[in-house]
Amino acid sequence: MQEEKGTISIHTENIFPVIKKFLYSDNEIFLRELVSNAVDASQKIKRLGSLGQFAGEVGDLTVDVKFDEAAKTITISDSGIGMTADEIKKYINQIAFSGATEFMEKFKEANDANEIIGRFGLGFYSAFMVADRVEIDSLSFQEGAKAAHWTCDGSTSYEISAGTRTTRGTDVVLHINEDSKEFLNKAKIQEILEKYAKFLPIPIRFGTKSTSEPDGEDEEGKPKYKTVEVDNIINNTNPAWTKSPSELTDQDYLDFYRELYPYAMDEPLFWIHLNVDYPFNLTGILYFPKVKNELEIQRNKIKLYSRQVFITDEVKDIVPEFLMLLHGVIDSPDIPLNVSRSFLQADSNVKKINNYITKKVADKLQEIFKADRKGYEEKWNDIGLFIKYGMLSDEKFAEKAIDICLLQDTNENSYTIKEYYEKVKDIQVDKNGNIIYLYTNDKAQQDGFIAPALAKGYDVLNLDGQLDTHFTSFLEQKGGEKVQLKRVDADVIEKLIEKDEKIELTLSEEESKKANTVFEKAISRSDMKVEVDALNANDLPVSVTLDEFMRRMKDMAKTGGGMGFYGNLPDNYKVTVNGNHPLVKRIVDSSEEEGEKLAKQAFDLALLSRGLLTGADLTAFVKRSVEMI
Ligand code: ADP
Repeated sequence: MQEEKGTISIHTENIFPVIKKFLYSDNEIFLRELVSNAVDASQKIKRLGSLGQFAGEVGDLTVDVKFDEAAKTITISDSGIGMTADEIKKYINQIAFSGATEFMEKFKEANDANEIIGRFGLGFYSAFMVADRVEIDSLSFQEGAKAAHWTCDGSTSYEISAGTRTTRGTDVVLHINEDSKEFLNKAKIQEILEKYAKFLPIPIRFGTKSTSEPDGEDEEGKPKYKTVEVDNIINNTNPAWTKSPSELTDQDYLDFYRELYPYAMDEPLFWIHLNVDYPFNLTGILYFPKVKNELEIQRNKIKLYSRQVFITDEVKDIVPEFLMLLHGVIDSPDIPLNVSRSFLQADSNVKKINNYITKKVADKLQEIFKADRKGYEEKWNDIGLFIKYGMLSDEKFAEKAIDICLLQDTNENSYTIKEYYEKVKDIQVDKNGNIIYLYTNDKAQQDGFIAPALAKGYDVLNLDGQLDTHFTSFLEQKGGEKVQLKRVDADVIEKLIEKDEKIELTLSEEESKKANTVFEKAISRSDMKVEVDALNANDLPVSVTLDEFMRRMKDMAKTGGGMGFYGNLPDNYKVTVNGNHPLVKRIVDSSEEEGEKLAKQAFDLALLSRGLLTGADLTAFVKRSVEMI
């Protein structure tokens, strides 16, 4: 073959420095690009073989990645279809560069290497991010083809000559540049290959590795082992998500989870196998992790693949926000990986994929709920947060999930939202027809309020989750007609669910005023407002409550609900003095000093019952109590 020199046909002379510089931060993807090309070429020969368009032996298609520290080279070799000299010129010189002009105009807008490389068909040229010279040695599968050798030093000129390859396929040799010597390292290459090539469909071999193998028995009859060198195959060519669900057992799914996340602490609760080919192509497996009670940042993120090539674990725009808590794999050649974020959000495929995944997840949850309510209830602690998060952030999901969202009461009974409404609607209805759901966010601390509510035959919900501040508002809007939520300690129970029947106050108006004065004096705190009320004689003499509305606004402010103004206000407690309690009557009838002492004691008891009595006040209380007994 005639040696030939030429110039790569682009208009801009200095594209390589630009690529190199611009892509520097993400330069490890050169390996992904070159290994993917090798895999593509291998799959092509396989396909041609099965179509009968290639009569020869397809043979072993394993792709080899090698490096030579002394020679400063990394070589990627495949036994794929290969290229003739003309094809190298056509595919490598021209096609790969057809986008170059556009690239030069647009590169300023681009955000990362992925974007540029895919968008401008620069896959092969990403090699120049790490190499100052690249060689291709290739022998095409075509009958009578001659091996061709191409070399390019990163400028726009190349040389093409006769090659030395004697078997079908391609070697790409990178002469690693000074700045990229970190890649001439076994561990580094292994790491990059594991990241991007772990599930490629053609075996990728990176040298050998030591492993121990049974080696007969020793004198005592114990099994012996020997260390042997075996091929270091990077990938599982047939990962679970590419198989049909009917081929897979539960154990297979769990094993695959381990393969994806070798360091995962817990097993997933359940999973969904995604498989669509119309109107877009998408496969994958999503796992439900145990979320526990925190929206912790998930270390095991969903991984995005395109035809088994790892692309990213930043799936922000493809998976609905609340589903980011899930783990697993999504593989879709239809997700435009290489375009900008804003474009991705507007992309109709991405939107469809988003909706599809949301629907699948809701369907799966419904299926489990229907098939095994008890099992579902048991899982609730782990999935409840996730479902609530979904309902709060995605209306479509909320519509589907509302029937399977559970409410748990302080007696550990579970109800769906509808069931709960039915349970309490006739009992916990106030004089205005509002249906009051009572709840606690701290069962132990609010016991002094829960007990009287339960004694009245009411039910108290346990809403102690991280999202429940927001979830209470959701229940009021979507949980049933005229539903209002009140935390049990927001007022005395007679006031929380106010009934028509009025309890008479046994104190005279004068006595009532006096009680008020005595208590105000005894308490003397600006954040405590005293009110004398007619409650049942056997209710507590004094209760300290925190107004529902104010408290909620403050909670919202705390969790970033945009109620900043309320967040800065001090807590405003109400001290309800039960005018029908004999103790209050005694206080009114006592001398000033004695009355104040008793009032203080009763107030401190109320504070104590809600964990508000601390520090010097607590010490004073203990001292006073000792004196009194
Ligand atoms: P893309 O892979 O996106 O088409 P590339 O720049 O990576 O862009 O490659 C350009 C073309 O060069 C490929 O489409 C393919 O035809 C050819 N090519 C690259 N690497 C190989 C290879 N190892 N074996 C055969 N053909 C290859």
